Amino acid sequence: MKVTIFGTGYVGLVQGAVLADVGHDVLCVDVDAAKVAALQAGRIPIHEPGLQPMVQANQAAGRLRFTTDAREGVTHGRLLFLAVGTPPDEDGSADLQHVLAVARTIATHMAAPKTIVNKSTVPVGTADQVADTVRTVLAGRGAQIAFEVVSNPEFLKEGAAVADCKRPDRIVIGTASAAAEAQLRELYAPFNRNHDRIVMMDVRSAELTKYAANAMLATKISFINEIAGLAERLGADIEAVRRGIGSDPRIGYSFIYPGAGYGGSCFPKDVKALIHTAQSTGFTPELLLAVERRNDAQRQTLGERIVAHYGGSLQGKTIAVWGLAFKPETDDMREAPSRYLLQALWAAGARVRAHDPAAMGEARRIFGERADLTLCESPADALQGAHALAIVTEWKIFRVPDFEQIAQRLRDRMIFDGRNLYDPAVVAGHGLGYVSIGRPGVS
Ligand code: NAD
Repeated sequence: MKVTIFGTGYVGLVQGAVLADVGHDVLCVDVDAAKVAALQAGRIPIHEPGLQPMVQANQAAGRLRFTTDAREGVTHGRLLFLAVGTPPDEDGSADLQHVLAVARTIATHMAAPKTIVNKSTVPVGTADQVADTVRTVLAGRGAQIAFEVVSNPEFLKEGAAVADCKRPDRIVIGTASAAAEAQLRELYAPFNRNHDRIVMMDVRSAELTKYAANAMLATKISFINEIAGLAERLGADIEAVRRGIGSDPRIGYSFIYPGAGYGGSCFPKDVKALIHTAQSTGFTPELLLAVERRNDAQRQTLGERIVAHYGGSLQGKTIAVWGLAFKPETDDMREAPSRYLLQALWAAGARVRAHDPAAMGEARRIFGERADLTLCESPADALQGAHALAIVTEWKIFRVPDFEQIAQRLRDRMIFDGRNLYDPAVVAGHGLGYVSIGRPGVS
């Protein structure tokens, strides 16, 4: 099928590559000319496992193309996907300017019936707003062309986006149109062979499903972080508690890891947007407000522990930081807990030596040149001359470190672990102090 995708970020680029890979004819449109030029040259602007070979193979086969030409994009696809960003507005609501800009672009150029499929995460009622926008522009042109607006939220996880798109848990499609449903069933048929993963519903429910999913996951994280805070005060070990509750299939093991708080481009903004939506209807979202408050506090906790350990000031101290991305296997640092930690360390007067396996370029872009930040090529290099080590992202390569080397290099022999990667007894056995989350400290 001929498909156009507006927006070549984490969602649009991965979806475009995966659709092309099963044989669809995909044209990706982006307003970022530098990004499009890089993609045309086969360079992938993001770190996502398996993405580069898939993009390059499908480009070579002629099934995946990139352009800044919106008119060409609108003409190409029978299905037009929206995968543009919906960042938080100042009041916490989702900023729909990019979504509505694409809607206007589509309506300006369309000359034949189109099905507009929204993959961006958008508040309930946005499909109606997109339809109104298209209708208004078409009326201005004096054109009468049929179109549908479908909600098809995306559930991929950064770091596993290609695998998630190839084998989705579910494909949520919100539409009342039988014709649009048939088109999307045809599009997704290659991903729906083993068993029926398609969940049909009305548009508003599909829009709310995406927020409900992210809010539920954020709630699990804030819940375990709250219990971790309690465990610390009660002399219990949150890792034992986690295993104890995870073994109940009604609870499960996933998303109950205590840590330095959730971050990334989705959970913080989606919880905020859902709170805003709830309040705009006069409904107080008690639980979501608490989830957000707990996370705001949790993102400060690692920095607070380090500063407290040193008696309130980090003047003259250098802290090694392992992990900058908001989670492993991505270079994305949007709302990353590491950013809150770095600000806290700098505010207390520390210098930072940081390493991340994928996000070094992103860190350079965000922080620029600063005297109090050295971006290091390896985890070992980050330890050089540092007094203590802070761990913010649970990358695999940090899981089994050379503790002897850490003990030799760290002047104060202290590890502050925001992800509970190590057995406290093992760390202590190497003569290192160890502060983690929700467990008895060894310092
Ligand atoms: P992103 O910021 O990585 O990419 C958005 C892209 O859209 C950018 O390349 C931007 O240049 C482009 N763009 C902006 N305006 C445009 C226009 N008028 N025409 C064409 N392109 C335009 O965003 P993302 O992370 O891919 O997220 C996109 C949407 O999907 C958001 O609503 C997000 O909440 C949602 N989502 C994201 C994830 C994730 O893990 N990143 C997962 C599920 C859903």
